[in-house]
Parts: sequence; structure tokens; C-alpha cells
Amino acid sequence: MYPKTHFLFALLIAEVLVAFGLLSHALAFAAAFLAVLIDIDHYFVFFRKKKKLGFRAFWNYTAESDDRDQRAFIHHWPGFAAALLISAALFLVNTAAFLVFSVSYFSHMLLDYLPRTKRKKQRMRVFGFVMLMSVYEIMFVFALVVLLLLVNFL
Ligand SMILES: [Zn+2]
Repeated sequence: MYPKTHFLFALLIAEVLVAFGLLSHALAFAAAFLAVLIDIDHYFVFFRKKKKLGFRAFWNYTAESDDRDQRAFIHHWPGFAAALLISAALFLVNTAAFLVFSVSYFSHMLLDYLPRTKRKKQRMRVFGFVMLMSVYEIMFVFALVVLLLLVNFL
């Protein structure tokens, strides 16, 4: 999934929590930002393989290759177990911190481990950044934007 999809999905869940008075908008945004940051492991894998630092080169490499090859421990069971422990510890200490952390990490993992579609992906180039998106991800992003508007303006 693309960063914007992770961002919007986490933001939607967090904004629902805002609607219930459990988080502020600022913390909802922080949760969404953190949900994108979880993919930082792709950058380390890229750097190890390519010995380059450029962001666009990294982006395009990640877009063109199989995402699953670029996941480091954060995306596997050791990271999941660590996240569960952190989540449990935060739950005991601070509800808002617990919600921000849990929403970001677990929403990210949920999207990453959804079954993949075998349909051909749409290929786009935006300012030199390659985007290969399935029609489902495009529809999902659209639905997330609509739901976010509903949560915030109804
Ligand atoms: Zn990921």
C-alpha cells in the first residue's frame, strides 16, 4: 500500500476516536503520520541493497519491486510482538499514547497483510515518482476520503 493509503486509513480510525472524545485532532494526525513512518524499514533495505540515499530512487525502487521483499523486522512477527508489548505498556501509562501507537501500527499491518489482487496495476508517474496502484487501492483511497469528510463534517 502507498503512504497516502496508510495515512488516510490511520487518520480515519483516529478521527473516529476524536469523534468519541478520546483523541485530539493533533494526535489523530500524529497517529496517521506514524502509520506512514512504519515503512521506514523499506528505506534501510533499499540503502543496504543499492547504497544510495536519494528519495526518488528509493521511492521508484520500492514501487517497482515486490513490497514483501523489503520488509524488515518491524513488519514481521518480532516487530508485531514488540508492538504488542509497547501497546500494553502504553495502555497502563497513557490512554492517548496507547491509542496513537496502536492505531498507527495495527492499521498499517492490517493493510499490509490484506490479500493482494492479481489484477494489473495502473501505472502513473507524478513528478518522476512511479505509482503502481491497483484499481482497488484507488477506490479504497476514494472511500477513505469520503468517510473522513463524513466523520468530520456530520
Ligand atoms: Zn508497510
